[in-house]
Amino acid sequence: MGVRGIWKGFGGSDAEPVRVPDAEVAGARVAVASDRERLEMLDSFERSDLAWFWASDARGNFTYLSAKALEQFEAQRPVIGEPVADVLQAMEDDDEHKEVKPISYLLSARSSFTELVVCLKGEENTEGGCKWWSLTGRPQFDKRQNFVGYRGIAKDITATYEEKRKTSRMAAFDALTGLSNRHRMTQRLTAALNAYKVEKRSCALIMLDLDRFKQVNDTLGHPAGDELLRQVSQRLQRVAPAGAEIGRIGGDEFQLIVPDLDDRGKLGDSANRMIQMISQPYSIEGSRAIIGTSVGIAVAPYDGIEPAELVKAADLALYAAKGGGRGQFRFYSNDLKENAEDRREIEEDLRDAIAHEELVMHYQPQVCAKDHTVRGFEALMRWEHPEQGAISPAVFIPIAEDSNLIDQLGRWALKQACKDAAEWPGDLPVSVNVSARQFLNEDLPDIVHKALADSGLPPSRLELEITESVFMGDIGSAEVMFARLRKLGVKLALDDFGTGYSSLAYLRQAPFGKIKIDQSFVRGCAEEGESGRAIINAIASLARAMNMTTTAEGVEAMDELATIGALDVDLVQGFIFSRAVSQAEVLAKLESGEMRYEAVGPAKHRAKRRTLFRRIGVVHEDHHYVAPVRDLSRTGAKIEGLLDVPIGTDLVLDLGEGQIVVGKVRRSQDATQGIEFETPLVSDGAGGLCTRHRVSPYMLAAVGLPLQALPSGTHLAAAAAGNPAPSSRPRFIQVDVQGGSSRAG
Ligand code: C2E
Ligand code: CA
Ligand code: CA
Repeated sequence: MGVRGIWKGFGGSDAEPVRVPDAEVAGARVAVASDRERLEMLDSFERSDLAWFWASDARGNFTYLSAKALEQFEAQRPVIGEPVADVLQAMEDDDEHKEVKPISYLLSARSSFTELVVCLKGEENTEGGCKWWSLTGRPQFDKRQNFVGYRGIAKDITATYEEKRKTSRMAAFDALTGLSNRHRMTQRLTAALNAYKVEKRSCALIMLDLDRFKQVNDTLGHPAGDELLRQVSQRLQRVAPAGAEIGRIGGDEFQLIVPDLDDRGKLGDSANRMIQMISQPYSIEGSRAIIGTSVGIAVAPYDGIEPAELVKAADLALYAAKGGGRGQFRFYSNDLKENAEDRREIEEDLRDAIAHEELVMHYQPQVCAKDHTVRGFEALMRWEHPEQGAISPAVFIPIAEDSNLIDQLGRWALKQACKDAAEWPGDLPVSVNVSARQFLNEDLPDIVHKALADSGLPPSRLELEITESVFMGDIGSAEVMFARLRKLGVKLALDDFGTGYSSLAYLRQAPFGKIKIDQSFVRGCAEEGESGRAIINAIASLARAMNMTTTAEGVEAMDELATIGALDVDLVQGFIFSRAVSQAEVLAKLESGEMRYEAVGPAKHRAKRRTLFRRIGVVHEDHHYVAPVRDLSRTGAKIEGLLDVPIGTDLVLDLGEGQIVVGKVRRSQDATQGIEFETPLVSDGAGGLCTRHRVSPYMLAAVGLPLQALPSGTHLAAAAAGNPAPSSRPRFIQVDVQGGSSRAG
């Protein structure tokens, strides 16, 4: 007999037992029970534990509870006479398990309720959890229709309810890390975005993808991989922005939903913290492992209003972050869509590049810092694309790494470089770049051996340049690879030292003969107050102490060369001596017998500021102009194209995609103005700059534009102002500085 079945015969507004005369049922005589029999029946039902009876008075205090039910409470505890709301707590029946309105509300509403899930306040079940009842009740009224309390049925559902909670938790949470799973994250994002659309709130979506996780999983085994994921999730929970919901949405993919955070300065800082935290070494069952992470960020409503749109934007940003070298973050921007297309095309074409002989190796001299004689060459790959012209290895190597083409490209590079070097007169060494991906390939020593054997190049003349990222993953297998390569007799150099996961600890673990100091320290090292000089000095003395030689990379200007010449650096490589040149040019140089290189370059390094926004909108009063940007820094910009703008003029710069900057003209000459920003720009994670805040699509919607993610194009400021018809003549003449012709703006 179910609870509902009993209910029909119990309670109701006619509280008095009614005497029913004997009746004919389906032709048989059925005896109707006497009052005494009915009571006995109820008694035995109550004792059966199938369900219990309860009753309360008009004030909501318990007046009755079956004896069996009372046994569920601690012996000394009063229940009868106590407010029901002090004893029971109603809970929402979903995976949140939040308290719904207190039960006192429900009772004062004087309406029926059925199978309400309640927990017994302050009572524990055998597993230390809550005791759960399902409660059904009906209000009772006396003859004059005065409310007199409730009567109803209660039932212990602890066992089944706990089970149900467990399954619903399993459906919502990741068993390994305890974080939300993909299903729940999707639900939460959908719920958040739907609500925020109405409340005009913002919401950031952050995607993380671990670098080198797969390798740890493959070499140390799945239990180690699981342990690593658990540790990653603990670290993430420690550094995630406040209020973030964190989920694991795939093998090594994590996602964060952060309500009300649209400040890209804060988001960038937060992403950097997560990257740094995750990149610290892990200790797993006695092995050490290092992994990294890339981060993509999109923010609603700017980059997407609908969940699918926002997820796609964050995915594209993540993809771009991975492509830009690992351990970076990226914000979504409209041009990422095109980038993704371009990457796909490059990948396609790269497959044929070797077969079509579009790839060549060029060689850049490494020169002695003291006497400028050549001491070796670095092999750098060049791709002459039939339609697009020269494509930089900085673009296609990361794509090759992602698409597993790197093994093929790397094999070819080694073979070609060894073959070319074997033709050089004398015994200068050649340095070949080996990507961390190639380094994971167990066959690498065999590939190197074959390149040497086929070309006849002695192993001592081959140097492999490896970046610090080879230490990511499990360190044990990296060490095995180092040992195997050393056995071949080739030399090893640590490339790009000081960037990324830089740690001096690596130097002690691996048999490097040379450290290459990254260009970023060389750049501007001669300038007053630059830390580059001190860092180069420190690396150079450290290297000397450890019997390693050093190369300073990317030397371009005379003052940089002078600064480095005064330090204890052995070799210099840079445009100041030569760019990478063809095999024919190397041969010509070496055959000439002139082993010195002449330093040719600018006296000082001229900072090339990266201009992200080539043409921007300039708003003054109600006029909109378009002007090229010459320089852009955090605090200001130089624009060209408006004639004679007085110093002190307030301008609004429209950098596109909702990025509006307020500034004042500080310098002005002819068609060039130096503008100081009211609020500084922040890093976009890709070496460029962006505004902290953007014009909210909610604001645009308020002036009549459809609610949508920010479109590309730079005329948002004009659109935001509702495109009013200009009421006055434009104050400034806009000139076309590129074409030289001028026209009124
Ligand atoms: P890298 O190994 O750090 O190579 C040095 C890069 O700095 C080269 O860029 C070189 O042309 C450039 N460089 C040299 N001197 C100067 C200078 O004075 N100023 C400036 N601004 N740059 C200078 P490149 O050839 O574009 O190569 C970019 C990266 O692509 C390389 O960085 C390397 O990581 C990768 N790469 C190139 N060839 C290969 C290859 O055959 N195999 C692999 N795995 N990676 C390669
Ligand atoms: Ca290199
Ligand atoms: Ca380098």
